[in-house]
Amino acid sequence: MTKGTPARPGIAALKSYALVSETPVPLRAKLDFNESPYDVPDAVKERVLTRLKAKRWSRYPEFGSGRLKRAIAAAAGRSPEEIVVGNGSGEIVLAAVNAFAGGGELVLTPPTFSLYPQLAAIAQAEVVEAPLLGKDFAFDEEAILRAVARTPRTVPLICSPNNPTSGVAGVGFLRRLADAAPVLLVDQAYVDFAPPEASALPLVDEGRNVVVFRTLSKAFAAAGFRIGYAVARPELAREVAKAVLPFSVDHAAEELAVVLLEEPAEARERVAAIVKERERVVALLKGMGAKVAPAFGNFVFVEPPGGEAESVRKELLLRGVLVRDLGPLAPGRLRVTIGLPEENNLFLSELARIARAREEA
Ligand code: PMP
Repeated sequence: MTKGTPARPGIAALKSYALVSETPVPLRAKLDFNESPYDVPDAVKERVLTRLKAKRWSRYPEFGSGRLKRAIAAAAGRSPEEIVVGNGSGEIVLAAVNAFAGGGELVLTPPTFSLYPQLAAIAQAEVVEAPLLGKDFAFDEEAILRAVARTPRTVPLICSPNNPTSGVAGVGFLRRLADAAPVLLVDQAYVDFAPPEASALPLVDEGRNVVVFRTLSKAFAAAGFRIGYAVARPELAREVAKAVLPFSVDHAAEELAVVLLEEPAEARERVAAIVKERERVVALLKGMGAKVAPAFGNFVFVEPPGGEAESVRKELLLRGVLVRDLGPLAPGRLRVTIGLPEENNLFLSELARIARAREEA
């Protein structure tokens, strides 16, 4: 006799985190995952492979990832004691949610990263929502502060730039929030694409209870290797690290991170190219009559001309252009990753063609 599934109710109630990549036609532009359109350069791959070959693969990676932490700290102008590393930044956000909000409350600002409710469920944290406001999807600062005041263990998790809306939180507001909350969690996976003043790291320097999450998956184009980190004052970093399993960053990810961080100039140039493309895409979308939220990540959040985001997404897909429709999280909007100029042009021209066909119909 088969037994029922014994998952606890918080897990059983979750929908599996599903990322569907339907590709009924040859894909001409993959703009759905906020990945970098530029691969890691061949010379970097060669260097990583050579170093990796020289390692003993039968051995565990260095316990505590000291070398990787030193490399990240040097590149980010921090001290290694402030760094926690993990298998992608998602793992560290989960560790921090577990450490600080587990069994308590977590404030989220929907529409925001769709993984967060799952992290909250794993950590048995109750989600308190303070939705974004208005046509620009601004943070509702007063509502977030009110939510944080509910209990002494209510912890805010702010995504800045926010996935999927691409907007940023002002650092002045984050400072107020850090002062009001037991600890402030700030996911800055996309901060490299925003102006330097969007960085929440000054709040760490001020000694506040702030944990900032960063990743090499976006600006450094290393999503295939899973390298993320958190920055916080050492006392907080130690607590987060306790909730991460040992050896979560393997030899390959570590070598790639070290090599990439040794020469950040190339990544910086590519970030600049993506930002320039983003500005061009936003201007052309607006010219076409689309509504576009202020964009600071490597993606834009668009209401297509004439609306009907879901059917526009399907039509784009039939033309080989894959973008994200967030469904009930953000009805009427599409999230479109900035790709190579030719991919962006294809997206824009197909979108214009779909809009024209609808007008004529
Ligand atoms: N935070 C945000 C806001 C993201 O969009 C993503 C990836 N989609 C992540 C964290 C996770 O990134 P990674 O685990 O690759 O570092």
